[in-house]
Amino acid sequence: MSLIVQKYGGSSVADAESIKRVAKRIVETRKAGNEVVVAVSAMGDSTDELLDLAHQVTPIPAPRELDMLLTAGERISMALLAMAIKSMGHDARSFTGSQAGMITDARHGQARIVDVTPGRVRDALDEGAIAIVAGFQGFNRGTGDITTLGRGGSDTTAVALAAALDADVCEIYTDVDGIYTADPRVVPRAHKIDRISSEEMLELAANGAKVLYIRAVEYARRHGVTLHVRSSFNNNEGTIVYNESATEETIAAAVRTSTGTIPVQSSDPSNPTQKSETTVEEPLIAGVATDLSEAKITVVGVPDIPGKAAQIFNIVAKTGANIDMIVQNVSAASTGLTDISFTLPKSDGQTVLTTLTAEQSEVGFASLQYDDQIGKLALVGAGMRTNAGVSAKLFTALYEAGINIEMISTSEIRISVVTRADTVNDALRVVHTAFGLDGDEEAVVHAGTGR
Ligand code: ASP
Ligand code: MG
Repeated sequence: MSLIVQKYGGSSVADAESIKRVAKRIVETRKAGNEVVVAVSAMGDSTDELLDLAHQVTPIPAPRELDMLLTAGERISMALLAMAIKSMGHDARSFTGSQAGMITDARHGQARIVDVTPGRVRDALDEGAIAIVAGFQGFNRGTGDITTLGRGGSDTTAVALAAALDADVCEIYTDVDGIYTADPRVVPRAHKIDRISSEEMLELAANGAKVLYIRAVEYARRHGVTLHVRSSFNNNEGTIVYNESATEETIAAAVRTSTGTIPVQSSDPSNPTQKSETTVEEPLIAGVATDLSEAKITVVGVPDIPGKAAQIFNIVAKTGANIDMIVQNVSAASTGLTDISFTLPKSDGQTVLTTLTAEQSEVGFASLQYDDQIGKLALVGAGMRTNAGVSAKLFTALYEAGINIEMISTSEIRISVVTRADTVNDALRVVHTAFGLDGDEEAVVHAGTGR
């Protein structure tokens, strides 16, 4: 018997009707002969509503109590889902994060999973029941308190359960058809990716793609979990996120298990896995992501002597901000001074500025500039490793569209550029076209948020 973990995002369980629809889908998976574990998010926008409520009570809610509050959202959806399944004549049991053995560290609001002990989930399965687990929540052994894994954490719950239970596949159900080569709301000719490596997915998620949360992808990569990202609103095959270390057979088996449960419409019904089983030539580019949530800080007039970069980034590190791109200019020989720019989340901007300003005389820089009108574009593809000329093509496409590049950074499988915020969508479209990613038809964009 195969074991399938399914995750349903908030948009898939937004109201009673949706919950019944999802329950039906879960039952079908069970009836196809699989063991089923479900990780579920809070209904619709209810997490945001609870957050609002907390902030109406106090501007700075106590972290422990905030976690207590937010985890109520998933408790509602898990119980309703289990009830719906039971009413359809199938056994189902809901579990909170702690009951399901999601053991985390003690950091409220952004806890990390340190252990998964799903004994009760396993027992439920052994007794023939469907297990419904509250996403996004855990439990710390030291404090004995309830924690949350950070916004969007239900993806991580699902992947962690899949790893601990050695599931055949982890299905992430959302309100879009899968992972796209670019955001279809900006690029109408973006197309769904059939298969993507976890390494590429990690880069896309880290650079602004929102369908999957980066921590879930990291976890899946580390533990060898195959993901199938698909819509809960239709039966189409979605996107398979596979680990490069997995064998072709393991991946094919995961696809078969996943698509075997619900008839696939998008390919030949007599051989639903036909497309996925042929090893396709790896495409040069997997996709393009953009991110408008970052800002740029420039440290102007830094003495160009050993130790200054170390000093600056040690100060920045103390704030906990996640630095992305770093660029240092060639020092002007006459002055012996250089400028260092870096990007960081806008939400960390003020803290970093304040902290750096406090150390200005110590470091000896002239001034700080803050720019929150930047956009970042990242072109991702494992094929880049063996292909010269990708950057030239990218820069040419941007040049021909009259878009100025302000910063550049590269990794083995990614090239990122910073542009003005208001040009980044144009940049996305021209780059998508330049790399031959445009599909033949316009993507069907549901009202979806991709969550
Ligand atoms: N309900 C939580 C949130 O909205 C967790 C999740 O949806 O994955 O962030
Ligand atoms: Mg949610």
